[in-house]
Amino acid sequence: MSTTLISETNRPTAPASGDGLIMLVGLGRKEIAAHLTELEPILGIEPKKVRMRTKQLFQWIYNFGVTEWSQMTNIAKPLRAKFETVFSLERPEVIERQVSVDGTRKYLIRMGPGIEVESVFIPDVSKTGALCVSSQVGCTLTCKFCHTGTQKLVRNLTAREIVLQIIIARDDLGEWPTTQENRKLTNIVFMGMGEPLYNTEQVGDSLDIICDPEGLGIGRRRITVSTSGVVPEIVPMGARTSAMLAISLHAANDELREQIMPINRKYPLKDLMQACRDYPGLSNSRRITFEYVMLKGINDQPWHAKQLIRLLKGIPAKVNLIPFNPWPGSEYECSDWETIETFSDLVNSAGYASPIRTPRGRDILAACGQLKSESEKMRASEKRKLEQQTPES
Ligand code: SAH
Ligand code: SF4
Repeated sequence: MSTTLISETNRPTAPASGDGLIMLVGLGRKEIAAHLTELEPILGIEPKKVRMRTKQLFQWIYNFGVTEWSQMTNIAKPLRAKFETVFSLERPEVIERQVSVDGTRKYLIRMGPGIEVESVFIPDVSKTGALCVSSQVGCTLTCKFCHTGTQKLVRNLTAREIVLQIIIARDDLGEWPTTQENRKLTNIVFMGMGEPLYNTEQVGDSLDIICDPEGLGIGRRRITVSTSGVVPEIVPMGARTSAMLAISLHAANDELREQIMPINRKYPLKDLMQACRDYPGLSNSRRITFEYVMLKGINDQPWHAKQLIRLLKGIPAKVNLIPFNPWPGSEYECSDWETIETFSDLVNSAGYASPIRTPRGRDILAACGQLKSESEKMRASEKRKLEQQTPES
């Protein structure tokens, strides 16, 4: 599914900006080097210097976040001047930036005509903060409880477009250079729009850029890739990226899971759990996170919790209970708070950590499953109604 949408990943693929310049930000070392080689007649960089120049550009872009050529002080002025004639350090346009009352920030970024991408920065995750990035515009899957699932797939995002989401958040948070000690953006979760395992090549390439210690420097264990259960891609993705795995489980029996997540018809629980057992590097310190959205009267009863415990047996796991976040037109309600707590207690007493995720950024439709790029503008009354539907912790 993914491969037909994205082409020619190994050639220099940076799109030209409006003024014909090559957009450098978001590119990996290989692509930057390919541009320097290709542009030798203009830039005059000898082949044996390409690697060194690539490294300099890479560090300025991803470690220092520079936006001006004059900031690249270890590159001589004449070469900087040449760079300026062919390359741009421009970022894509942020068409909307919203800050929630709880500090969550949502960015709507225009990557190109009709390609609008949402990412969400959530403060106070793992003592610091996490950026939730999108891997596709829209989604081909149609999980019943998910807003993104109502938006048709527009296309897969490129590695560059995934990386740009981080650059934009770091710009906005003022966290350059990357090495500053008290930075808040330390973790990345692929839990925004789309199914990352239908775009594994670009997701893998983006991790190579994001995790490069001379650049953005985010450790692979601080990156979590979440999937609805694209079974054949789970183990290869782990081997390629060494990222942490999250599974959107939401039901512990096939009948119910099929109802709310049609992908379960293709990849039933038995196969999904086997792929989890086979996930590379799995251990008690590298557990799989199972996400479980609490849907009132659907999957939230004690017997569901017991079924879940049986299903997880033998897998180093933790369970994230997500109170259902409503969206305009959604057909579910969130479970009552006591029901969620009872569920959590049962899972906990079976030895699995099962924190209840506090809904973040609900007022700006930035919470899990609420993202959709053609963000419908809600009337204040609709917004209040949604807020009332989700219980407070
Ligand atoms: N497609 C991937 C990545 C998206 S992650 C996946 O499904 O795993 C987004 C997470 O939020 C998933 O666990 C998803 O199931 C959950 N989610 C979707 N809609 C939700 C909603 N309305 N309320 C709470 N969580 C939701
Ligand atoms: Fe797509 Fe994930 Fe939403 Fe399902 S939960 S529709 S896979 S984004």
